[in-house]
Amino acid sequence: MALSTAPGRLEVICGPMFAGKTTALIARLSAARAAGLEAVALKPALDTRYAHAAITTHTGERLPALAAACAGEVMNLLGDAGVGGVVGIDEAHFFGAALVAPVRALLLRGARVIVAGVERDHRGAPFEPFPALLVEADEVVKLHAVCARCGGLAVHSQRMFASNERVAVGGAGDYEARCRRCFEPPAD
Ligand code: ADP
Ligand code: MG
Repeated sequence: MALSTAPGRLEVICGPMFAGKTTALIARLSAARAAGLEAVALKPALDTRYAHAAITTHTGERLPALAAACAGEVMNLLGDAGVGGVVGIDEAHFFGAALVAPVRALLLRGARVIVAGVERDHRGAPFEPFPALLVEADEVVKLHAVCARCGGLAVHSQRMFASNERVAVGGAGDYEARCRRCFEPPAD
């Protein structure tokens, strides 16, 4: 594996659904490319909401991306990407705690790693891998959405269908952004 003398940098962009995380990630990756850097996007293959091989915003903006079935596949898929360049990972919560190891490996090879995702699960509890990544981050951007009930500052993703699964893929109609007051955690 090629190595770089760059120290590595971790940027975390988090917040509830519809907060603009993917929009911000695409903006950072596009800016890096415009500056002549290699910038690779990666997403969980599980997220098939709008596209299979692209990170996509709710408003239809998209950037081609590698799709990893699990965190263990990330380094193989990336190859030498990120050595002296940028790696953007969207919907990181779909990968769970296992994503921490490849992120650390990328940082050690000198990559600028930008991780976007939801840091609170549908119960409002910390959502892995964010607890660990937020500690390691050099920069944290916490975005808010608009509460679907009252228009206030939303920090939660309210699940609108019954499921005990921690990871359940859904988009508009399946989840609502909610503020602390309007959020109704599931009873069970
Ligand atoms: P995130 O990645 O945080 O889920 P995106 O970057 O994909 O968010 O999209 C954010 C944009 O989605 C907002 O700027 C807004 O235009 C749009 N949006 C906000 N609320 C909704 C909603 N309930 N349904 C669909 N689109 C929404
Ligand atoms: Mg998104």
